Parts: sequence; C-alpha cells; structure tokens
Amino acid sequence: MKLSELYNTKKRTISFEVFPPDTDEKCEKLYLEMIELAKFKPDFISLTYGAGGKNDVQAKEVLNALHERFEFEIMPHLTCVCSNKKFIDESLNFLKQLGTENILALRGDKPNDSEITCTDFHYANELVEYLKAKTNFSIAVAGYPEGHIESKNIEDDIKNLKKKINAGGDAIFTQLFFDNDKFYKYKELVINAGITKPIIAGIMPILNLKQLQKMTTLANVSIPKKLLNKIEEHSEDSNYIKELGIEFASVQCEDLLANETNGLHFFTLNKSYSTSKILTNIL
Ligand code: FAD
Repeated sequence: MKLSELYNTKKRTISFEVFPPDTDEKCEKLYLEMIELAKFKPDFISLTYGAGGKNDVQAKEVLNALHERFEFEIMPHLTCVCSNKKFIDESLNFLKQLGTENILALRGDKPNDSEITCTDFHYANELVEYLKAKTNFSIAVAGYPEGHIESKNIEDDIKNLKKKINAGGDAIFTQLFFDNDKFYKYKELVINAGITKPIIAGIMPILNLKQLQKMTTLANVSIPKKLLNKIEEHSEDSNYIKELGIEFASVQCEDLLANETNGLHFFTLNKSYSTSKILTNIL
C-alpha cells in the first residue's frame, strides 16, 4: 500500500529499518532476525541504501530475498550521493518489476573512502521531484528533530524540508532521537511551516555505548544526561545497557503513541531482540 493511503487509513504504524549485509552469512542471519520481527506484522520495512553505490548488487539481492521470503511491503531507500539519472532510472525499472510502491528519497551521506559524487541530484528535493515525475510511487523524506548536522539552524532546515514536501514528499521519517520534547517541538515547527504530511518517529534501541556515541556524533542527536550517566557508569556491561535501552525506548514509545504520533520506525541495526522486547512492552 502506498504511504499516502496508509497514513490516511491507519492511525499509527509500525515499521522496521534494516540494511543490506555484505556477506551471505550475514544475510541469512538477517532473514532469521526478520522472522522474529515479522511476528509483529509491520506495516512495511525499509531497506537502506549505502552511500558509495558499492553495495548496489547486494542491496538488490537482499531486496529480492526479502520479497520472496516475507509478506510485508518493503520501502527501499535511494540517495543522490553516488547516483545519477541513469542509475535511478535502472533502479526504478527494477523496483517497478518487484511491485514496489514506496521509496525513501535521501541525499545520502558521503562515503569516507571516495571522492564525491552528487552529479545529477545535489539535494533530496531534486531527487523527490525526479522520482515523482518518473513514477506514481509514494515518496518519503527524512526530517531532523534537532536539525540536520549541516544546517544553520532548525528553521532553515525546515525550509529545506518544505522543498522536499513541495516536490512531492508524502511522509517524513525522522532521525533517531531520545528526547520526545524535541520531537514534539519539531512537529509544531513543521506544522507551523504549513507542512501537513505525517511525521513518523525514528526510534533506535540503544545496544552499547560505542554504537550510541557513533550515531549521536554523526547525526547531531542529544542524549538526556540521566540516561548517558547510567550508560557510562555501566559501559562495560553490555547486557545492562541493552536492557536499559529497551526500558528507555519502551517508555519513549508509549509516550509517543499517547501523543498521537503517526508511526514508529525502528532502526533495528538488523537485530530483532531489543525491538521485539520494546514492541511486546508497548502493544
Ligand atoms: P537533504 O534534505 O538534501 O538535506 C541535506 C542538508 O542540506 C540539510 O542540512 C538541509 O537543510 C540542506 N538542504 C536541503 N535542501 C537544500 C537546498 N535545496 N538548498 C540548500 N540546502 C539544502 N543515508 C544513506 O546514505 N543511506 C540511507 O539509506 C539512509 N537512510 C536514512 C533514513 C532516515 C530515516 C534518515 C533520517 C536518514 C537516513 N540517511 C541515510 C542519512 C541521510 O542521508 C543524511 O542525514 C544526509 O546527510 C541528509 O540526507 P537528506 O535526504 O535529509 O538531505
């Protein structure tokens, strides 16, 4: 079902984000994890596209395998970085054959090991416009409750978000965040800017300190001090941190649902344990 229809008909959605692993063994592991997550009957799952284009073949193989093995719908991501019109056209042909109806259109992050790289599309709004002209897919875009790391300020970032919506964006999937008040404030600013599309909350269960530090530095995401202190106190105890992450995200998700959030989108990091526990706690 297209996102535009889904968010018209359903009050709240559950979706999972996964990434295409780089070995066959890890792919098989992912499919096992997906069997666990499929029990929660997600409205769809989304499949990232790694900047660099190096894993294009792997991404297609994983997409095919997920289609064959599972009933849920899949929203692939496409990026401007390391891409061009020819590549997007080829990808669209492949996706149309698979019966895809939704795409998450992103600028993408520049890969560390390559000279860059945005040729035909410089910002996500240009990609959204191109995709809308070429297909009748629903197109999702990214939003940043604490502002995108490169933007001057949140207001400027929301002006750029509006360009993506004006180009045809149907739904906004946010960057992960840990402070719901920041999400609610962002929602208010987005609505005040005249944007009426659904805003889906990005949730990342905390797995360990290293992963948390990496994600938050790369993505301009703040961690509530109390939570950070607890994690740092137990930095060597991975089980404690994982369970704390489940407890924190469960409370966070309950609050989001109580405040009429359109949907929860879990950044699963290809693991089912924490997301399954959180969903068991809240549903
Ligand atoms: P844009 O919307 O193009 O914004 C990038 C920056 O430029 C912002 O600071 C914005 O304010 C500014 N800007 C935007 N438009 C204009 C304009 N027209 N003129 C001037 N300035 C402008 N990355 C991947 O590589 N692969 C993935 O699969 C992936 N999945 C993601 C999923 C989600 C839910 C999220 C939130 C992010 C994901 N990312 C992914 C990361 C994303 O690619 C990066 O955050 C990237 O730096 C920005 O992408 P964007 O689409 O938001 O860019």
